[in-house]
This record gives sequence, C-alpha cells and structure tokens, in this order.
Amino acid sequence: MSNGLAGGQPVLILPEGTTRIKGVDAQRINIAVGRAIGEAVRSTLGPKGMDKMLVSELGDIIVTNDGATILGEMNVEHPAAKIIIEVAKTQDKEVGDGTTTSVVLAGELLKNAADLLDKDIHASTIIRGYRLSAEECVKILESISEPVSIKDEDILLKIAAISMGSKSAAAGDLKNFLAEIVVNAVKKVAEEKKEIKDGKEVKKLVVDQDLIKIEKKAGGSVRDTVLIDGVLIDKEVVHPEMPKKVENAKIALIDAALEIEKTETDAKIEITSPEQLTAFLEQEEKMLRNMVEKIAKSGANVVFCQKGIDDIAQHYLAKKKILAVRRVKRSDMEKLARATGGRIVTILDELSEKDLGYAGLVEERKIGGEAMVFVEKCKDPKSVTILVRASTDHVVNEAERAIKDGIGAVASTLEVGKYVYGGGAIEMELSQRLREFSKKVGGREQLAVLAFADALEIIPRTLAESAGMNAIDAIVALRAKHSEKGGINYGVDVFNGKIEDMKKLGVIEPMKVKKQAILSASEATEMLFRIDDIISAKPKTGGSTPGGKGTEGGTEED
Ligand code: ADP
Ligand code: MG
Repeated sequence: MSNGLAGGQPVLILPEGTTRIKGVDAQRINIAVGRAIGEAVRSTLGPKGMDKMLVSELGDIIVTNDGATILGEMNVEHPAAKIIIEVAKTQDKEVGDGTTTSVVLAGELLKNAADLLDKDIHASTIIRGYRLSAEECVKILESISEPVSIKDEDILLKIAAISMGSKSAAAGDLKNFLAEIVVNAVKKVAEEKKEIKDGKEVKKLVVDQDLIKIEKKAGGSVRDTVLIDGVLIDKEVVHPEMPKKVENAKIALIDAALEIEKTETDAKIEITSPEQLTAFLEQEEKMLRNMVEKIAKSGANVVFCQKGIDDIAQHYLAKKKILAVRRVKRSDMEKLARATGGRIVTILDELSEKDLGYAGLVEERKIGGEAMVFVEKCKDPKSVTILVRASTDHVVNEAERAIKDGIGAVASTLEVGKYVYGGGAIEMELSQRLREFSKKVGGREQLAVLAFADALEIIPRTLAESAGMNAIDAIVALRAKHSEKGGINYGVDVFNGKIEDMKKLGVIEPMKVKKQAILSASEATEMLFRIDDIISAKPKTGGSTPGGKGTEGGTEED
C-alpha cells in the first residue's frame, strides 16, 4: 500500500478543508457502507419480504419493496453508497428486475471480502478471485439454463407472475391476473429483427419496452387493470357537442395553438366605435374559422392538439363533427404518431391528408368517473397501453412497479431465450459449482472464490429467513440436495416454509436477471475495493448542497 509522500509519488496539494482517508481505512469504510446498504434492503427480498415506507422531506409517502425505488429515494451522502445505488439502477435499466438481489449480493460480497482482508489476503488477490468467480458463474448460467421461446406461453406467464408476486400490490392470485396482461403486452410489441452474427444472418427477438405505455388511475381495484390495444390519452373531448366516438378515425396531430396568438409586446388597439369592435371580433372569428376549415379540408375527423384550442375554434370543430382533444403531452403526441402513422404538424397551413394518422376507433370513455380518450385498432398494432387501477395512489404506484418488473422479466426472457429456477435454487447451484471450481483455481485466489460461493448463499438464506425458517438448517439441507442427483432445482418454498423443487412449484426467472445481478454486484465490489484513497472536498457552507437526492429526479417524462 502506498502511503502518500513516499515512494517517489507525486505530492498532492489539496485545498484547505479537504479530508482524506487512505489505505486500509478507505477500504474498510467503503465495505461498511456497502454492507449497510445491502442490509437495508435485504428484508424486502422475495414474496414474503417486507415493504418499506419512505417519507420524503416534504412528507410524501411511498410504500414499496422495490430495491431501485428504495435506494433511489434514500438521501445518501457517502460516495460508496452511491456506487452501490448505481448497481441497482443499472440492474433496473438493463433488465428491469432483480434490483434487490444485486444489492444484497454486493453487500455480502463486500462482507466476505472484509473477512479475507482480516486474514491478510491482499485486495488484488481478492479482486482476481472474484472476477474469476463472476466469469465462471456466467459460464455455468449459460450451460444450465433452459431454453424458452415466444410460443411457450405457460413459461412466460410463470416468469411474469414470479417477478410480480414479490410486490404486495400484485401478490396472491393477482399475480396470475396481471401476468396475463403483461405477457400479452410484451408479445404485442416484440419484434423479430435480423442481425448479422459471425457473418451469418440470425433472427433475434427485440422488445422495445417504451412501446408499452403505462397509465394510472386510482379507484376500483387491481383487477380492473386492463390492456388496451392502442394509446390512452388522459384528457377529455374538449367540447360537449363534439362526437364522443369516431370510427375509422383520420387523425390530425397538431403542435400549434388553435388560438389567436397574443402578442408578446403590450400592443394597444384603439377602438373608437361599436362598428370597429364588431369588425375586430369578426376578424378574430374568421381567423379561427379558417383554421378549422384547414383541418376539415385535410379530411381529419379527429384532432389531437398539443396546445390550446380557443372556444370559438371548438365550436366550429364541433359543427364539423370533429372530435378534438387539447393540451396533449408531448410524449403522448409521439406515441400517437407512432401508433397511428400520423405526422405531428407544427404549421397548420402545411396540414394535408398525407399527415393524418389512422385508428379504427377513437372514443371517450369514463374510467373511475373521469373521461379518457381511447385510441384503438391503430395502424401500427405494436403500441399498447396498460391502464393500472387500484384503490389508492400508493397501491397504483406499487402495482405499476410490479408491472414494470414483469415487463422487464418477460422481455429479457424473450430476448435472451433462457430461464433458470428461482427461490434461491440457481444461487445454491452456482455456489456449489463454484466450490468445485475453486479447487482448480488453487493458491490464495481459491479462498476468494470460496468467499464468492458463500456470498451467493445470501439469497436462499434471506428467502428462508423471510419465511420464518431456520436459515442455517435450510442452507444445510439445500447444500445436501444440490450435491445429490436431481437436486439441482431445490430452493426455498417461502409459502410453506420448507425446501422444495422449484421446477415443481413453477418458480422460474429469466437467466439475464441473474447474470446481470451477479455481474454488476461483483463489478461494484471490485470498484470499491480498488479504492485506497478517499479525497473529499470541503463541504460548501450555507445549507445542504443541491442534488443530494437521486440525480435522475422524477421518472416521468412530464
Ligand atoms: P428483486 O428486486 O431482486 O427482484 P424480489 O423482492 O422481487 O427482489 O425477490 C426476488 C427473489 O424472490 C428471487 O430470488 C425469486 O426467485 C424469489 N421468489 C419469487 N417468488 C418466489 C416464490 N414463489 N417462492 C420462492 N422464491 C420466490
Ligand atoms: Mg423482483
């Protein structure tokens, strides 16, 4: 270990107030922080895991068991904590499920590494051993995972249900109900793309998860959640005399105000006689009527406008039997453009028939007492919307997180085409095989591989604890099963508090979720381990620094 000035190293001149922690102390602190984060989310793992209630500075409440959400909301300051939180974010982005697993695993990898440090094993040896282990895990995963295709409806439904069932808003029977919606949605948007791999053309399924729009409405129950074959706009038809339903809709998408532009400067118009006033108003009305004429001339019978629509324009649109919606979000305009094949027009004068989109049906319907506009039977059937319902906003939001996990799980299963057995079964098997592998590694790295193998057992151990089982007994029994023939799929049956064949119970998970969790956990561990010097700038005085909270801010586009 280098110690500052010695060894011909460049001398760092640090500004006054800078704090510096070096060498083993730096490692210890990072390890402690990483472990603490792992511990913080551990109790939420699995269907018997607990939820956390997060209260923001403003008193807003989130009730969730979602690892990425919990960590995203936690106001952590320590740089090591931020690295661990990155693990959860990467996991969420790459696969959309398995966030808790990745963070819990990272915490355990750090803990076991600390024990090795105590035994005077050098950090670089541990890093090498961990890296070998992660690579070996990927190889094992590739070799023991089972193939799945888009036709295996039954398996996809199970994967969706298992992924969602660990969230309270989708527990019990609800998970099967939602699984059907999720699988149908993913299948609708899945697309076969040709790729060139090793000089050969191969077909690959690609799922663009952005094509699945999620809308939320409190009221009703989770069972009222529906899959809509098209786009749902959370707005009402702007004028009561407009049609509420248009079949064979020709849709104009307009990003311009159907209003008379108010001048920026304070222009005053002097009107001296009633005739002048009438003329002025008539002029305005004529301009608005002209706008409507232009729309009608294009052949449109539905208008989605990103900006406002003046009362007079509404009146003329209604007369022409055109259904119009105003102040539509930009992201919704884009979805409409994609779904209906229309073009968003910014200059009304340019609107022509070829810009119009098509949908078999545009209709306003009441959901939970509020009007929403459904755009269905679209030109491009690849756009779908899941309308999430539940009694309160808290439940709606957790149901949405569950559905997003489900979508992520099914999508990554289809893209990779492989699945494994959950309930800790895959982690047990990996652990067992890594122990075998360690014998080939030899040397001091062998100890690091064994430490990695031990760390993987944190997943079945935590699941057993959540089920009220004796964790030590459970692990011993699982080890025994996994060294027997035919015991490879044994994991924790959390609902009955015993170990069981996960194949029999249908507890399956996408291979990619496990692979990514292991890779990102071990990478984060390695990164924290390489640090032997923490240099912190002097905190700015005068209140808290901005951006303490998750830098990404809100997850919604609008
Ligand atoms: P993550 O954020 O890592 O996905 P979850 O809270 O969703 O965390 O828990 C996932 C873990 O729960 C996985 O190890 C999975 O195999 C396990 N699990 C899910 N459903 C069951 C079940 N019915 N029986 C046993 N284990 C389950
Ligand atoms: Mg999950």
